[in-house]
Amino acid sequence: MERKYTQTIHVGTTPIGGGHPISIQSMTNTDTANVRATVAQIHLLQKAGCDIIRVAVPDQNAAEALGKIRSQIHIPLIADIHFDHQLALTALEQGVDGLRLNPGNIGSKDKIRAVVAAAKERMVPIRIGVNSGSLSKEILTQYGYTPEALVESALEHVMILEKMGYEAIKISVKASSVLMTVKSYRLLSQKVSYPLHIGITEAGTEFSGTIKSSMGIGALLMEGIGDTIRISLTADPITEVNVGMEILKGLGLRKGLQIISCPTCGRTRIDLIHLAKQVEKALVPYQKLNITVAVMGCAVNGPGEAREADYGIAGGNGEGIIFRKGEIVAKMPETELLLSLLDLIQSENPVH
Ligand code: SF4
Repeated sequence: MERKYTQTIHVGTTPIGGGHPISIQSMTNTDTANVRATVAQIHLLQKAGCDIIRVAVPDQNAAEALGKIRSQIHIPLIADIHFDHQLALTALEQGVDGLRLNPGNIGSKDKIRAVVAAAKERMVPIRIGVNSGSLSKEILTQYGYTPEALVESALEHVMILEKMGYEAIKISVKASSVLMTVKSYRLLSQKVSYPLHIGITEAGTEFSGTIKSSMGIGALLMEGIGDTIRISLTADPITEVNVGMEILKGLGLRKGLQIISCPTCGRTRIDLIHLAKQVEKALVPYQKLNITVAVMGCAVNGPGEAREADYGIAGGNGEGIIFRKGEIVAKMPETELLLSLLDLIQSENPVH
């Protein structure tokens, strides 16, 4: 799919926009001032596929921890700051790679100018993040709670930065409604060529939030809109990254392991739900392998239905098969399927 042109900015060494790979972002939920816990969580998130990490900076203690965090991680660090320009200045001094901050919300022109000057000096981009909670009374009176309101609000912040000659900008206009989000980003992408950070905000719990995020982010990405993504779930941030990976892989925007499995039907004579989960878990170390693995419920239709899979297993009445690209390569008792599949994958694709 063709991606909409956006300018390139750099968050640390990671290029964003301009056709560069779409990055997955997440946010830690540890106390940022607790360096050890925050660094540990960032390492886990990076392992799961997170490209850029954002941390909340609610106070000076958190801001002063950023340098120590930065020195112990290997992905770009973004400081999330609301209202307090001093926190932004400290974050920049501490060496963060990006700021998430709405310039219109940090007070006087002088304060904004100080932050912009410090960001410019360090070549640190700023993400303007507008959502329903950040709309001003004036905007709401003029536009109501509409996509136009989100976009106009974002553009107001953009203009403040542009007037100060600052253009290393990324923008988000997230809503908790899928339709509102999609319409807002469509409108925004017609008006600016800055890279866009997309997502559904406050999407919900793991199940419903994953569905809403997949719909909204998926729809936008299919229209070529979006340079970085975040899945906002009331769940472990690792889940956010896993969902982000699946969205990108599902759209062919990122390579990696894909597991397909049949929905089961009256022909199924195996506990396929359990088996599919076991396969998924066992293949976690193979996430970066560009292969498709199928887990099918019956040997009669399974290999054919999963012809495109590189490897697959199908269960039957106590006996199962292993197949490769639709061709059966071995038959064995069902209980041996999982280990044999892993052996085969490992022998042909050593991880280490
Ligand atoms: Fe049913 Fe077999 Fe198809 Fe699974 S692979 S849905 S068990 S026919």
